[in-house]
Amino acid sequence: MLSGFEYAENQFKKYGFELTEKQYDLFDKYADFLVKYNENVNLTAITEPDEILLKHFIDSCLILKYINIPENSTLIDVGTGAGFPSVPLKIMRPDIEITLLDSLNKRIVFLEKLCGILCIDAEFIHGRAEDIAKDLKYRESFDFVCARAVANMSLLSELCIPFAKYAGNFISMKGPSEDIDSGRLAISTLGGAISKIYEYNLESDSRKIIHVIKISHTPSKYPRTSSQIKRKPL
Ligand code: SAM
Repeated sequence: MLSGFEYAENQFKKYGFELTEKQYDLFDKYADFLVKYNENVNLTAITEPDEILLKHFIDSCLILKYINIPENSTLIDVGTGAGFPSVPLKIMRPDIEITLLDSLNKRIVFLEKLCGILCIDAEFIHGRAEDIAKDLKYRESFDFVCARAVANMSLLSELCIPFAKYAGNFISMKGPSEDIDSGRLAISTLGGAISKIYEYNLESDSRKIIHVIKISHTPSKYPRTSSQIKRKPL
């Protein structure tokens, strides 16, 4: 489905990654299954192979360029959709333990099938982040929490920061128009502090990665219910 190995290898190289043939093979199978499944179940608007390569696979992997993820770290992907960014991260870094969370069960079913095809180990959770983050099995238990294209910074912080361990990390991937400042109060209320904002271009599109470190425990009242969050965002 993807253009050949050499093309993909060169595209990855432009962004500083070495791609092995095994990794290419996994991305190729991923693209193939994504496009076929997407004919019946809405997963993504991006279906051209070269765009999948750039806007889903390489974009997801760019976290690794900016953020140091120590070996065997645990990572939860909140609102993972069709597996972005966590499944490409797992292809590049099989040592990372991934947990895939989404509120839409049809996406979790897709991911279970996909990970079966790719022989990838993962934990799958169908549920809303604001409910799952109250469960002590998951609350403050991950080294990394990441999210791409899920919600504005204030809401996203309330959905994600409760999952991060003390001294853990919250990584948010954002487009150019995102207002980060409006999320600052939420980040500090939830126990985080912005460590750094990385700005980069994906061809002509500008993107940001916001790296938040958890500097204190999240107060137990957060996350609130989705109706409370909507009524009174932080
Ligand atoms: N992260 C993926 C990506 O970058 O392609 C998917 C982005 S998609 C625009 C947003 C996803 O977040 C959807 O799959 C949606 O079901 C999920 N989502 C939205 N709110 C959520 C919540 N409160 N808890 C869990 N998942 C949620």
